[in-house]
Amino acid sequence: MSVLYVEDEIDIREPLARFIAKRVGALHTAGNGEEGWEMFQRFSPDIVVTDIQMPFMNGLDMARLIRNAAPEVPILITTAFSDSDMLLKSIEVGVDRYIKKPLRASQLMEQIENIAANIERKRELERKNRLIEAILDNSPGSILTFEKGKISYMNRALLNYLGFTSLEEFLKEHSTLDPFLVEKEGSFYKGVAMPDWVRLIMTLPDEEFIISLVGRHQLKLDAQSYIVRVSAVHDSPNICGYDDTIIVSLSNVTTLEMERRKFEEQAMKDPLTGIYNRKFFFQELDQEIARSGRFHDPFSVVMFDIDYFKRVNDTYGHQVGDSVLKEVVVLTQGVIRNCDIFGRYGGEEFVLLLPNTKREGATHLAEKLRRAIEQHEFDYIDKLTVSLGVTSFSEDQRDANALINSADTALYRAKNNGRNRVEYV
Ligand code: GH3
Ligand code: MG
Ligand code: MG
Repeated sequence: MSVLYVEDEIDIREPLARFIAKRVGALHTAGNGEEGWEMFQRFSPDIVVTDIQMPFMNGLDMARLIRNAAPEVPILITTAFSDSDMLLKSIEVGVDRYIKKPLRASQLMEQIENIAANIERKRELERKNRLIEAILDNSPGSILTFEKGKISYMNRALLNYLGFTSLEEFLKEHSTLDPFLVEKEGSFYKGVAMPDWVRLIMTLPDEEFIISLVGRHQLKLDAQSYIVRVSAVHDSPNICGYDDTIIVSLSNVTTLEMERRKFEEQAMKDPLTGIYNRKFFFQELDQEIARSGRFHDPFSVVMFDIDYFKRVNDTYGHQVGDSVLKEVVVLTQGVIRNCDIFGRYGGEEFVLLLPNTKREGATHLAEKLRRAIEQHEFDYIDKLTVSLGVTSFSEDQRDANALINSADTALYRAKNNGRNRVEYV
């Protein structure tokens, strides 16, 4: 700590200065206000101790100059006065403490130490705040806090991502993150304003909450968003009122989430043709059975198998066989509707689930598909035909196995009746 001591009476100043100098980091002394002000500007002391009555410039005038230049520096006044006029004046100047003359060195030193301890505490607090801020700003995750329902802090990572340089700048235009969310149908936050959806998160600590966030400059573009996992806590546990502080952290899970979605998709799809696999088809079939059973809607199933496909492989090789399978899939996709579910049942056998379609519609579509394949010019091979078996959902067949069995029976009949034809069971 450095101290500036201003006192015009040398008899007082000298002995006190000697006493103080031994107990502080640096002591600067001055004999009047003018000199004191000069010393203040030169040395920027941490604490100022000054007399009032002095030649050239009095202690209060000097204190006023110091206050304007450095509002934080504590000023201690030593005075023989006790009149209220002087007191009012010094309050107005912003003097921190008074000590009455005649001065006892130990008493003055006690006051200086007291002030020094306060400064120390304040500096420590500032240092800790800076440290916390640096930690938060250098954390790769995004962090924000709410106090009394309003955003009170955002770390650098979040501000940078959103495209703002400071919280003030952000708050000038927005009060929540909601405008930056990519609202998806069925998302937990849809239609709920922040921070209410954050409070919802806090009530369900074991669940995972994913949101998609875009930056300010991406709002207008169809740019890739940042997929984040949101978690939230209160600054102190056990509080759940609405005046509390909420700390929200957002961790970027874009890569993970993209991978999860890719795996999810892979798990449903047949790798060769890209259409649904058998397992997923059965899931959809079960759902359709439950739905149609409830709403009394019709639906049909078509199973089809390529005729003499073994010959394709035997004549042209397995690779050509694969490419023919893909071509059959593309042809089929051109014939069916968007809402129809198309799956690969096995090798060269395929299944179709046709929602809202009765026997007539289903056999009509099967016939259309049969003709499309029969007429198609394939890349490597001559001609190709398929046999198709059709069945419909009814009171007697209300489960997936029964439906698939019937479609299979119909397909078997089509094969037996000469192939390249449609049969209904
Ligand atoms: P059918 O008219 O009675 O259906 O005769 P088919 O030759 O088509 O029937 P079969 O069941 O005897 O042979 C099916 C062939 O399909 C045998 C198998 O090697 C071939 N196959 C199954 N899956 C694939 C595949 O993923 N790629 C290729 N290239 N061939 C496959
Ligand atoms: Mg076959
Ligand atoms: Mg077969």
